[in-house]
Amino acid sequence: MSHLETDDKQVYDLVCAERKRQQGMLDLIASENHTSRAVMEATGSVFTDKYAEGYPQKRYYGGCEVVDDIEQLCIDRAKALFGAEHANVQPHCGTSANMAVYYACLQPGDKILGMSLACGGHLSHGLSVNFSGRYYTIASYGVDEKTEMIDMDAVRRQALAEKPKLIMVGASAYPRTLDFAGFAAIARECGALLVADIAHIAGLVATALHPSPVPHADFVTTTTHKTLRGPRSGLILCKAKWAREIDKAVFPGLQGGPLEHVIAAKAVAFGACAKPEFKTYCRQVIANAKALADALASKGWRIVSGGTDNHLMLVDLRSRDEDLTGQDAQQWLEAAGIVCNKNKIPFDPRSAAQTSGMRLGTPALTTRGMTEPQMQQLAGWIDTILAARGDAAVIARIRGQVSELCEAFPIPAVR
Ligand SMILES: *Cc1c(COP(=O)(O)O)cnc(C)c1O
Repeated sequence: MSHLETDDKQVYDLVCAERKRQQGMLDLIASENHTSRAVMEATGSVFTDKYAEGYPQKRYYGGCEVVDDIEQLCIDRAKALFGAEHANVQPHCGTSANMAVYYACLQPGDKILGMSLACGGHLSHGLSVNFSGRYYTIASYGVDEKTEMIDMDAVRRQALAEKPKLIMVGASAYPRTLDFAGFAAIARECGALLVADIAHIAGLVATALHPSPVPHADFVTTTTHKTLRGPRSGLILCKAKWAREIDKAVFPGLQGGPLEHVIAAKAVAFGACAKPEFKTYCRQVIANAKALADALASKGWRIVSGGTDNHLMLVDLRSRDEDLTGQDAQQWLEAAGIVCNKNKIPFDPRSAAQTSGMRLGTPALTTRGMTEPQMQQLAGWIDTILAARGDAAVIARIRGQVSELCEAFPIPAVR
C-alpha cells in the first residue's frame, strides 16, 4: 500500500492499525470472516471507477464491455455454485437484497411472516425500526420454549391464521438446521411466497453441508461476506419467472450504479467456493463449532438448543452465573483478545444492550487454520475469564496466550 502511505498517511495508519488488531485478536463473531488477498485485490481494482447502470449488454453508459464480462462471470459462477435459475449480483449488502425482494413482489402494507429478532431473526425481516417493519405488516414466529428450535407445526398454524403474502426463513443467531422443504410446504399451503435468507449459512449451503433452499424457495437472498468468505456485499437468487421483476427492483428500483469492483471480488469468492478446498474449510468450520460447544458444555455452560448444527452457537451465561450478562462477557473477553458479541437468547428477560447470552462462531478462526485443539484451548480461556468475572490479572495472563496463538495462525492479509 505504498501509494496510500505517501498520499494519505492518516488513513494508511488506520488501515495498518486495523490489520494489526485483526491479526492480534481471535474473531469469534459468527458473521465475520477473513477474505483472501485475491478478494481484496479485486475489491481494490480499477472497476471501482466504472459507471455501469443497467445489466450486461443493457447498459446506460458506454465503455461497459469489460464490466459486462466481469458481471456476467460473477452471475454465471453464482448460478453454478448454488444451482440457481437466475442471479442478481448487484445488491450492496444482505439488507438491500431483502429490500429488493420485498420491492419486487409486495405492496406497502402487505404481510410478511418472519422470524423474530428476539429468537434469532434479522432486522430486515420486520423489526419495527427497520424499513421492513415500517412499510409492511409484520407477523413473527419464534422458537419453541422447551427445545429452543423452530416448531414447524406452530409455524404452519401461524401461517394459516395470518395468511402472509410472503414468508421469510433465515436467521442471524439460529444454531440449527433450517427445514426449507418444510417451509416451502407451508408457503404453498397458505399461498405465500417463500424467501430463504441464507446470509449466515451460505457457505455451508454452497458446499451441501446444509440443505439448499434453492429448489424450494421462490427467492434466496444472502450476504457474501459471512461463511461465503467474499467481499462485504449481497446476492439474490430466484426462479427464472422472477428474473425480470428482481432485476427491475434492484435497478432502477432501489440502486443506481452497481459496485463493479465488489462484483469482481464476488466473482473471485464464488470461484474459490467452487473448489474442493472450500468444502474442506466448511467441514472444519462445523467441526470447530461442535468442538467449541462441546468443550464449553463440559464446563457447565448451557448451549442454547443443546448444541449446534452449523457454524455458530449461543451460550446461556446464566447457566454458570445468574448475574453474568452478555455485556460483561463481551467486554472481559475482548480485553483478553477474544472478540465476540453479546446476544439475546430465546425468551431472554434482559435487554438487547445487556443480554443473557453470547454468540460464538468459527468461520474466521477456521480461515486462520485453527482446528479442534485450538477450540478446546479457547473454551478453557473463555471459561477461566468468565469464572474470574473479568479479574485483571487473569485477563492479562490469557491475553499473552491469545497473542501467541494469533501469531501461530496469521490472517490471510499478513501471510
Ligand atoms: C447479516 C444478515 C443480513 C444482512 O446483512 P448486511 O449487514 O445488510 O449485509 C441479512 N439477513 C441475515 C439473516 C443476516 O444474518
